[in-house]
Amino acid sequence: PLVLGIESSCDETGVGIVRGTTLLTNTVSSSMDEHVRFGGVIPEIASRAHLDAFVPTLQEALHEAGVTLEDVDAIAVTSGPGLAGALMVGVCAAKALSVATGKPLYAINHLVAHVGVGLLDSKPDAGAAAGQLPQNLGALLVSGGHTEILRIRSITDDVELLGSTIDDAAGEAYDKVARILGLGYPGGPAIDKLARQGNPKSIRFPRGLTQPKYMGTAEEKGPHRYDWSFSGLKTAVARCVEQFEARGEEVPVADIAAAFQEAVVDVISSKAVLACKEHGITDVLLGGGVAANSRLRELTGQRCVSAGIKLHVPPLDLCTDNGAMVAALGAQLIMAGIGPSGIAFAPDSSMPVTTVSVAA
Ligand code: ATP
Ligand code: MG
Ligand code: FE
Repeated sequence: PLVLGIESSCDETGVGIVRGTTLLTNTVSSSMDEHVRFGGVIPEIASRAHLDAFVPTLQEALHEAGVTLEDVDAIAVTSGPGLAGALMVGVCAAKALSVATGKPLYAINHLVAHVGVGLLDSKPDAGAAAGQLPQNLGALLVSGGHTEILRIRSITDDVELLGSTIDDAAGEAYDKVARILGLGYPGGPAIDKLARQGNPKSIRFPRGLTQPKYMGTAEEKGPHRYDWSFSGLKTAVARCVEQFEARGEEVPVADIAAAFQEAVVDVISSKAVLACKEHGITDVLLGGGVAANSRLRELTGQRCVSAGIKLHVPPLDLCTDNGAMVAALGAQLIMAGIGPSGIAFAPDSSMPVTTVSVAA
């Protein structure tokens, strides 16, 4: 099926078009520049920016894909989780398009879409791949608002949460630590880049929830065996900077960035691989904005190889928020025979990851 996907959950206005598991186009407009001076996304500004950007982004996507709205079989839109006002712009636009064209509308979970984008094929015409997915699929979702390890028995209707962060998301930790280090916003790409010039072993930052009382044993699992915590790490970085300053020494920003990144990536990859091994998971999809991180890709890749797990990593531009991931999940729903959502649904800013799409 030819599916048009619309994304507006945060500061990216995205329109993507797929045919089955083949990507035709992925057009994204970001209001990031307007938020930089505030050090974070301002919801009201993001909503207004979606309103400005939506129609031009849609027109560009249709033009690039060489299709018209008439050609499209269905429309998919992010209906949560995300910023309520921002979601509303994309959802309103999608409902209007659906009513005007008579095309069915799918209200989609943004987080599952981050993962489902990994099912797009890099080669054209390999559209049957979706039917050959492993039965016991895992997904490691690492984004600005979430850090989760999922078991996916079916990407369209059976997603189970195995572990998650109990406080900050990994992307949030990157953004907060970047602020402490004076690297500006968004912090993830800045830390990723600077860390390459630093020594990750110069400082040992804490790995949250790795003590025996949280991990338990293989037989008797602890209460947080597959969970993460990043707020202590953020505090440890702040203390470390204060100590250098109190001694009147220059703060080794690159070393701290590298050591912080190593702590985050170490604990994310080790717990994710453990959860997969202990659930017989053989294939893992990596997704979310932090999946763009070079060290996370590298270390998770190495550990998966050692554990005999196949890691599927999407291209960089499909990791951060975009419309193609929404279209990709929409196409999976249609191919699985799942019905559309109608137009009566409302955006849900805290939609749980277990809700893949909204039932009519
Ligand atoms: P969610 O998907 O949970 O609703 P979101 O949509 O805001 O949240 P994403 O767009 O998925 O988040 O990801 C944005 C986050 O990814 C930001 O926190 C950003 O700092 C982080 N990020 C982007 N690139 C990198 C990178 N190379 N290394 C680390 N973090 C990165
Ligand atoms: Mg964003
Ligand atoms: Fe996202």
